[in-house]
Amino acid sequence: MEQNRITSLFNIKYPLIQAGMIWCSGWKLAAAVSNSGGLGIIGSGSMYPQVLDEHIRKCKDATDKPFAVNLPMLYPDIDKHIETIIKHKVPIVFTSAGNPKTWTNHLKGHGIKVVHVVSSLKFALKAQDAGVDAVVAEGFEAGGHNGRDETTTLCLIPIVKEKLNIPLIAAGGIGNGRAMLAAMNLGADAVQVGSRFVASLESSAHDNFKNAVVDAKEGDTQLTLKEITPVRLIKNDFYKQVLNAYEGGSSVDELKTLLGRGRAKKGMFEGDMIEGELEIGQISGLIHDIKPAAEIVYDFIKEYEIALNEQNSSKFNF
Ligand code: NDP
Ligand code: NDP
Repeated sequence: MEQNRITSLFNIKYPLIQAGMIWCSGWKLAAAVSNSGGLGIIGSGSMYPQVLDEHIRKCKDATDKPFAVNLPMLYPDIDKHIETIIKHKVPIVFTSAGNPKTWTNHLKGHGIKVVHVVSSLKFALKAQDAGVDAVVAEGFEAGGHNGRDETTTLCLIPIVKEKLNIPLIAAGGIGNGRAMLAAMNLGADAVQVGSRFVASLESSAHDNFKNAVVDAKEGDTQLTLKEITPVRLIKNDFYKQVLNAYEGGSSVDELKTLLGRGRAKKGMFEGDMIEGELEIGQISGLIHDIKPAAEIVYDFIKEYEIALNEQNSSKFNF
């Protein structure tokens, strides 16, 4: 595969980026993906400052390749995370869920490349104005926290591509090499993949959650809780409680009380499939096994190459 704007920016082999996912993407997954030629990301949103410090140290010991940290701006101790990232000279940071103007200059001043995650054209342009190096545009299909407007990846990528000058990374619904090629045909320079890596050996998700992802079928997830923060999750018992609350006309405060604290940890990390919040994308319907991250990267690139050859040999005559 040839170099492009993203592989050159990050100094990686393949334009394949593993998403930062709370409770699922610790240093083991990030290092495994980076060692396989993609870009691994530590999801810091679920880590206390000391925990992030430890994960960065371990990741550096496990790989000499570039890796990144995902920093959701709604994280309560964000100043401490920023300090830790700078102290360890982490080369790349993916910020999300907040205003990219807040930290971009500070991070870039320390030689860190900054990418911001958005779910709309408006925020993509705002991120570009804030001086980020690249944008991740994430469609409605994606697991976990998401935009309110329900724009699918198929529509979002060309819409953003039309106006954005800096490199564009597509996310949401990308679960194999064919989807990777499709996203790049739409104008993306790279793809970011979450759900497929949850069902990897190295992911820090609980085995119960990994198995639930493998068992999930098309139609088994839903984007909900838009009044709090929109999130796509598996329609388990907890989701049914949310549905009942909506049907009963619950207020935002009642929904917040029902959600409580630590639901995501309970489900994805501790393996409570009944009461936990199980954040995963629509593409879980295409995930049938749990395998090493290196194999996932290899399969993506191999399938991408096969699909590209097929595409190149089926030209139409105009
Ligand atoms: P909750 O409010 O339900 O719970 C907070 C959880 O975060 C707890 O389980 C807690 O662990 C853990 N945690 C880690 N560091 C801290 C800290 N400094 N202060 C308080 N709690 C901390 O939130 P969620 O589990 O839904 O989300 C956790 C965090 O992840 C959010 O604060 C947000 O920053 C981030 N997030 C990012 C997303 C993204 O898009 N990347 C999506 C969703 C959330 P313990 O139980 O061990 O105390
Ligand atoms: P607000 O919606 O109050 O936004 C706070 C400030 O940040 C506002 O100035 C707002 O701009 C700006 N802002 C918010 N999100 C973005 C973004 N993605 N890119 C650029 N600027 C942004 O509070 P929150 O911080 O809670 O943000 C909520 C929004 O964030 C949701 O609408 C959702 O789309 C997005 N989000 C994205 C996640 C992700 O990782 N993909 C995860 C969770 C949330 P303005 O005044 O112009 O509205």
